[in-house]
Amino acid sequence: MKLTEIWNSRSEPTLSFELFPAKTEKAAANLEKTIDKLAALEPDLVSVTFGAGGSTREGSHQLLKKLKGDTELDVIAYFACYGLAPEDIVAVLDGYRDLGLETLLAVRGDIPREEGFVPHPESLRYASDLVSFIRPLYDFCMGVAGYPEGHIEAQSTEKDLYYLKLKVDQGAEYIITNYFYDNAFYFDYIDRCRNAGIEVPILPGIMPVYSVKMMEILAGLCGATITDELRQGIEALPDGDTNALLNFGIEFAYRQCAELLEVGVPGLHIYTMDRWKSSSGLVTRLRDDGLL
Ligand SMILES: Cc1cc2nc3c(=O)[nH]c(=O)nc-3n(C[C@H](O)[C@H](O)[C@H](O)COP(=O)(O)OP(=O)(O)OC[C@H]3O[C@@H](n4cnc5c(N)ncnc54)[C@H](O)[C@@H]3O)c2cc1C
Repeated sequence: MKLTEIWNSRSEPTLSFELFPAKTEKAAANLEKTIDKLAALEPDLVSVTFGAGGSTREGSHQLLKKLKGDTELDVIAYFACYGLAPEDIVAVLDGYRDLGLETLLAVRGDIPREEGFVPHPESLRYASDLVSFIRPLYDFCMGVAGYPEGHIEAQSTEKDLYYLKLKVDQGAEYIITNYFYDNAFYFDYIDRCRNAGIEVPILPGIMPVYSVKMMEILAGLCGATITDELRQGIEALPDGDTNALLNFGIEFAYRQCAELLEVGVPGLHIYTMDRWKSSSGLVTRLRDDGLL
């Protein structure tokens, strides 16, 4: 079912988990286990990322195929257009349509880190170009990315919102946000989007803290603010105690999710980083407390 159809068919918030394709055999074995554990939580959807420049083209397709074939779950296929020729975009999306996928998240993607990558001269510049390219060709329920704290390259938060609205005007039906560690960013973003006339559902992205190093690196890359509350909470943990950090990450994300659910978000979208323990702990607590 398309994501928008799920929302239209019921009033409860959706639960979705983001996965990325494994790059090594060890990671693939770990991903298998993660899928089993996450599927047991009966989410509404799982999503699969797509490496910009087509770097995970085959891996993303195979993972989507596996999820479609082996589980009952609905799937969101991400697609990043950075550097790709129009015919490559069509080839990937034809493949997704032929797998029976119905929901897509269209993003621009970041510049691939491999040396020597040369974008195709006809590649699309922005996600709004991708949305308008896809819309007349396919019947996917299509979403786009949004950034409560502003995209890291944005000229200004106003401009960023202007381009977000452009993506919606071109045919995006929902937005998944980048993660944030302070719900105030999300609430302010919702207000600003609604004031700008962006009416589509805005699904909050939640990233539990998995490791301090990962948190610092990713937040640096995407511009998410690591709040004082988060830093102080981590500093108070015993040094090197991974279990304490896991539990702290679950507790912190639980408090964020509880508040978001209370105000009536369309769902929770968890960035799993292909890990399952935090998602499992978080969802179990939310369900035990009747919040999800
Ligand atoms: C939920 C989510 C999922 C993601 N999944 C993936 C993934 O699977 N693969 C991947 O590679 N990356 C992924 N990303 C990261 C994303 O690709 C990067 O953040 C990327 O830098 C921007 O993508 P975008 O679609 O937001 O781009 P855009 O909407 O094109 O925006 C990019 C920047 O350009 C500006 N801009 C937009 N349009 C214009 C215009 N017409 N003129 C001037 N400036 C403009 C915007 O303000 C912004 O600063 C994801 C991000 C999120 C939040």
